[in-house]
Amino acid sequence: MKEAVIKMYAAREEIHPREVKGRFASLRWACVWLTQLLFYGMPWLQLHGRQAMLFDLGTRKFYLFGLVLWPQDFIYLAALLILCAYGLFLVTTVAGRVWCGYACPQTVYTEVFLWIERRIEGNRSARIRLDRQPWTPEKICRRGAKHLAWGMVALWTGFTFVGYFTPVRQLAHEALGFTLGPWELFWVLFYGFATYGNAGWMREQVCKYMCPYARFQSAMFDRDTLIVTYDAGRGDCIDCSMCVQVCPTGIDIRKGLQIECIGCAACIDACDSVMDKVEQPRGLIRYSTENALASHWNAAQIKQRLLRPRVIGYGLVFLAIAGALAASLAMRTPLKLDVIRDRGAMGREVEDGMIENVYRLQVMNTAERAHRYRIEVDGIASAGIADEDVVELDAASTRAVPVRVRADPGRAAGGSHPIRFTLSALDDPSLRVSEKAVFIVPK
Ligand code: SF4
Ligand code: SF4
Repeated sequence: MKEAVIKMYAAREEIHPREVKGRFASLRWACVWLTQLLFYGMPWLQLHGRQAMLFDLGTRKFYLFGLVLWPQDFIYLAALLILCAYGLFLVTTVAGRVWCGYACPQTVYTEVFLWIERRIEGNRSARIRLDRQPWTPEKICRRGAKHLAWGMVALWTGFTFVGYFTPVRQLAHEALGFTLGPWELFWVLFYGFATYGNAGWMREQVCKYMCPYARFQSAMFDRDTLIVTYDAGRGDCIDCSMCVQVCPTGIDIRKGLQIECIGCAACIDACDSVMDKVEQPRGLIRYSTENALASHWNAAQIKQRLLRPRVIGYGLVFLAIAGALAASLAMRTPLKLDVIRDRGAMGREVEDGMIENVYRLQVMNTAERAHRYRIEVDGIASAGIADEDVVELDAASTRAVPVRVRADPGRAAGGSHPIRFTLSALDDPSLRVSEKAVFIVPK
């Protein structure tokens, strides 16, 4: 008996999306420009004499436009990530896969790489022809030029990415002098290779098979979520297949909503231009909702379903987290103090019969400018600081300050006494923090 072989893997067919012009294509290009100007430009911005946005892993400090976050401030980054996640949930519930279609790096870099491909290899038909051609010198030159251009964009992207974690000017200096450190070189190449592979070779496969967000976002969809729809009831389709030819994932939207659809609206632009030519109203393929399509709602009726319980729920959580984050950042004192008691030395008697305890004050100036601080202690009668009580710290720096506190045993019983250290900036009285400690008087 002959064995039947069932293949579990369908070999990929190369997709050459046709170039499309229209409202949504222009919007996507606007997003490409905006996101890429931000991404490539941000590391070069300077503030207070240093990179305005730098996640300096070496010194474990994150600089965000004048805000310096230390490992103790991790909660702010966690809150920011949660906020981004809720923002994405909210947008997805209302407008479906707009993130995927307009702003996701995979979409943005694929658009850039496709633009390069079109300039070098020509339009869709020319590219399909080139694919089928044997390896002639012309094909080798065109393909070589394309991969070279892709490689340069990818390397620049990798370099920029690393520039968020290592000062970019220093990185550029090292790159030009071929003196990049091994880790920096590794990450530039790794990120560059990922960009080249994902945007040049993998393309729609990243969205179809690799992206986790694509998998779970359907959980946020409901029948009032905006999706790209085909209005079969109109019966105006002339079967020109333009909507399929422009689709970056190679699907036919006329077959209904499919998981591969990234909501890029290229098919809307393509079909609208066909409808213009055949003098039919636009919108045979359009953004709509399942409910709107079934009940023939107009735009105003779709908008009425915008504020539904799920959207209000996500919106309220988003606003609550954003409010808490903003309030907490606004009230944050850019000064931290930790007190560690010298456990090796218990309270000991010194000259004049005073009792001395030794502490180590870990002072962190998280502001973007230098400050001088006065150290004070209270909580036990006659307690005073036996050392210099003014300490100076550079901007965004930390310092361990040994402090000896002395008290009169005649005015404090034997045992442990709670005390409090206070640190206040000499030039800004509002900059003030306190920390508790214990003073021991031997019995
Ligand atoms: S079906 Fe339309 S919206 Fe969906 S991915 Fe294809 S072109 Fe983009
Ligand atoms: S572009 Fe419009 S008219 Fe052409 S096949 Fe697609 S739906 Fe039909």
